[in-house]
Amino acid sequence: PLPVEQAEKIVLNLEALYDHPDAELEHVAKLARSIQQRRGDYNGRILSIRADDLYTLAVVYSTTPSGLIEKLEDFGVLVHDLQAFFASEE
Ligand code: C2E
Ligand code: C2E
Ligand code: C2E
Repeated sequence: PLPVEQAEKIVLNLEALYDHPDAELEHVAKLARSIQQRRGDYNGRILSIRADDLYTLAVVYSTTPSGLIEKLEDFGVLVHDLQAFFASEE
């Protein structure tokens, strides 16, 4: 089976991420802002990130990519089902 970080595209819920009060998410938010800037992608409510960047971010948090995904999951900042996400926003 594929490692968890390759099994599915990693998609961040930007509203949830930027509004989250927990300081532990600071590095994730910083990376997301920087990616938005480099892509010129400012209007999205979600952001797909590279598996490579997840790997780097995991090092920052002293965990593995799967460990980081679990953490992001717990904080509720991941989007799994885009269709359901956009449907619920309407
Ligand atoms: P780059 O890596 O040389 O990529 C140039 C362009 O190729 C990107 O322009 C994008 O249109 C396309 N591209 C590259 N990889 C992918 C991909 O996996 N999926 C898609 N859909 N398109 C891809 P863009 O988006 O304007 O980004 C400009 C530069 O900003 C990129 O140059 C890269 O240096 C940086 N960048 C953008 N997003 C990320 C990111 O998520 N992580 C990292 N590490 N750098 C990023
Ligand atoms: P997808 O990757 O499954 O993305 C579905 C929708 O989620 C996108 O619809 C877009 O509204 C949103 N989305 C996903 N990632 C991002 C992101 O990093 N930033 C923003 N702002 N929105 C995001 P959309 O744009 O109509 O695209 C539909 C499908 O078309 C995408 O499905 C993808 O398969 C393809 N696509 C669109 N743009 C690109 C691109 O630049 N490169 C590649 N390789 N595929 C693209
Ligand atoms: P995606 O566009 O559907 O691309 C899926 C995978 O195809 C990427 O996974 C990467 O392994 C490969 N790929 C696509 N385009 C390129 C490319 O131009 N150069 C290279 N070397 N590989 C490419 P990855 O890297 O995990 O990215 C996941 C998603 O993050 C991408 O899905 C895309 O939605 C977003 N993304 C990543 N980098 C960029 C970027 O530079 N610009 C934009 N606009 N989106 C990006």
